[in-house]
Amino acid sequence: ILEEPEFKEIIDTCMNCKRCLTDCPSGVDVPWLSVTSRADVVRRKGEDFSSRILTDTRKLCLQGSMLAPVANVATNLRPVRWGLQKVIGMEATRYLPQFRNRTLRKMMTGRPEPLEGSREVLFFLGCFANYNDPEGEGLAVVEVLEHNNIKVILPELKCCGIARISSGGQDLIMDDIADNIGILSEYTQKNIPILFSEASCALAVKCEYPRIINSEQARTVSENCFDIHQYLYQLHQNGELRTDFGPLDMKVGYHAPCHLKSIGVTDEPVRLMELIPGVTVERYSDKCCGMGGTYGIKSKNFDLSMKIGQRLFEEINASNVDQLVTGCGACGMQIQQGTMRESIHPVKLMSLAYQKEKETSSAA
Ligand code: SF4
Ligand code: SF4
Repeated sequence: ILEEPEFKEIIDTCMNCKRCLTDCPSGVDVPWLSVTSRADVVRRKGEDFSSRILTDTRKLCLQGSMLAPVANVATNLRPVRWGLQKVIGMEATRYLPQFRNRTLRKMMTGRPEPLEGSREVLFFLGCFANYNDPEGEGLAVVEVLEHNNIKVILPELKCCGIARISSGGQDLIMDDIADNIGILSEYTQKNIPILFSEASCALAVKCEYPRIINSEQARTVSENCFDIHQYLYQLHQNGELRTDFGPLDMKVGYHAPCHLKSIGVTDEPVRLMELIPGVTVERYSDKCCGMGGTYGIKSKNFDLSMKIGQRLFEEINASNVDQLVTGCGACGMQIQQGTMRESIHPVKLMSLAYQKEKETSSAA
């Protein structure tokens, strides 16, 4: 069957979104079959040039951030875009998020230790939150946790590698995966939970690492990984989440990322946002945006990626909301491409509401 043309077609077009696992009862793990088949091709033939460049997320972000704001201007110039499409296969018309020179890690350096002796968590800082949205998603996660007297630990970690894993390059990042598991395991042994604000990073460490490394250590780390919404909502259910939110008076449209669903998180982001007075949430029906991480960035996949997202774009355009919200940087990129509207992370909404209440009480 592995040599059948139909199977090869699925392998080539699968974007590892995991929808078939969450939505179809067949129980066949097509995305893992695709990932391992691609890994086999990479083992035999090497990684193609386009994947080597486009799936090295950390390197791309690091370079973009170091060269920002020049990199942001340059990558928006038409000739540069067409050049990139020709050389590395990146779609020339693809909307790209801006790189920030002042990353979250830089923002945290020299910041006074906010809390002592309280609860601690490890924040697995994803590339998007650090390099593209440090003042939005990144800082919001830190501020919301600290507002709840939780100390945030930000160790230096390697990229989660989800883009590389999805494109079959898992063997090429074995050292990074082993390093991450080693560092995360030190915190797991101290019962410090590992939190993720990007669903795809969570998916990599929680679900893909134990299948790639297959060790007790990887499985123990996996069990200690939690999505940020899941963690905060659990606090709320225990009566431990502060609810001193100022009113925001807005209707938000929420898109649920496929990867969040694949790790079992569905209602938590919506329930958290609904704790904010004045916020009503319209949940878009469960449609994939079509981005699939770097899948939709490649020019050869662009048309199909936009076609998959079309129904979601139409639903968003027909909705009358003040703000779009999603917990995935890649979904945000694709939604912006398809609707020309920006989105923010659900935790950013929580941090805005905490901030509003602080401002109101200090003005009173
Ligand atoms: S593209 Fe998504 S739904 Fe389709 S086979 Fe791959 S993981 Fe499953
Ligand atoms: S970008 Fe978001 S909706 Fe699209 S495939 Fe990835 S997780 Fe799913």
